[in-house]
Amino acid sequence: MQPIVAKFGGSSLADAGQFRKVRDIVLANAGRRYLVASAPGRRDSADQKVTDLLYRCHDLAAAGQDFSDPFNQIRERFAEIIRDLGLTFDLDGALSQIAQKLKSAPERDYAASRGEYLNARLLAAYLGYDFLDAADAVRFTPDGRFLAEETNARLSDALSRVERAVIPGFYGADAAGTIHTFSRGGSDVTGALAARAAGARLYENWTDVSGMLFTDPRIVPDPGTIRHITYRELRELSYMGASVLHEDAVFPVRAAGIPINIRNTNRPDDPGTMISHDLPAAEAQRVVTGVAGRKGFAAVQVELSLMNNEVGFGARLLNILAAHGVPFEHCPTGIDTISVVVDAESFNACRSAVLRQIELQLHPDHLSVEEGLAMIAVVGHGMGGAKGVAARVFSAVADAGVNIRMIDQGSSELNIIIGVDEADYENAVRGICRALG
Ligand code: ASP
Repeated sequence: MQPIVAKFGGSSLADAGQFRKVRDIVLANAGRRYLVASAPGRRDSADQKVTDLLYRCHDLAAAGQDFSDPFNQIRERFAEIIRDLGLTFDLDGALSQIAQKLKSAPERDYAASRGEYLNARLLAAYLGYDFLDAADAVRFTPDGRFLAEETNARLSDALSRVERAVIPGFYGADAAGTIHTFSRGGSDVTGALAARAAGARLYENWTDVSGMLFTDPRIVPDPGTIRHITYRELRELSYMGASVLHEDAVFPVRAAGIPINIRNTNRPDDPGTMISHDLPAAEAQRVVTGVAGRKGFAAVQVELSLMNNEVGFGARLLNILAAHGVPFEHCPTGIDTISVVVDAESFNACRSAVLRQIELQLHPDHLSVEEGLAMIAVVGHGMGGAKGVAARVFSAVADAGVNIRMIDQGSSELNIIIGVDEADYENAVRGICRALG
């Protein structure tokens, strides 16, 4: 039977009580053979994540200052888990090695990785699982580039030698043994790599929510959980700000066709959200899967008579943005007009240079910048076949008293994207969810 890889996030392993919940979850299914652990997260909203404390230790150590205050807080976090669970573990020995290294050669990624390292060792000891150090299997180049194929080969080999193991998330090492981390939240990525390497039948991602929500609960209270979503829909919604998983965690499992199940450690009976290539037949009828969006966009609008006759006009415009390092997000066009929607912050950093180049190279009749745009994505596979969804979205926005400033529909008919004034953003989302949620 193919195994299940279960990744437990920081809040799922924040204290001894959470460790007990994790044990119950692991014992409930013998398939949960490979576990990936995060560092202890916040126990309540006033608490600090161990990873943040470790970064603090590093920054103080690198400045040659005393780091005993955050270091002792870390000691206390782990000591409490060990005490409450009755584990035998040489915490002082492990911590003094880390402190030595911080003093002699403070490396930021090494410091940050120690939360996952220690927590995974404790979880392995608690469950009687082997400990498999990510430094031996997850490979980076010396300049910190992740090596996917080498990692997969090493990890597959290492996993094939152990029946049950806990792997620390978030980090790996280069060939010389220097530690490198993924970006924040990167234990999700380690979980996905382990799932691929183990040929898992399922990648479970245990966190503190019962799955992905239909929309932002700060805008629409109790929006409901998405029971099943495809990888492509997830990508669209995450891109627009609905975050449930680290972005890089999707690709390894998606390529291997392994479904991801987002689950809640505090409500283990909730089914959570299942992410896979296709929807089950019962859900394939659903038209809209979720609504997400964000503020902070601007649109560069260029107008030129007979633009449609000028071969390469759009390419030259996009090249100017690219040359200044501004990625473009959407690009709705008319016969003689083209708008490029960009992230306002990266555009504003080189705004006058970009506009000057557009004037010089493209000689537009009219050039303007629309500021203060919010973009909203209405996402769902079912929109491809359903008639009238766009009409319902636009009426919903009109009924909310909001003016639509831009419309874009992806060629896959997987989404409808509308641009509205930032001030209208919440109202528009509420209106769309009322009509289509
Ligand atoms: N502990 C790391 C962080 O706080 C990685 C993770 O939890 O996924 O970002």
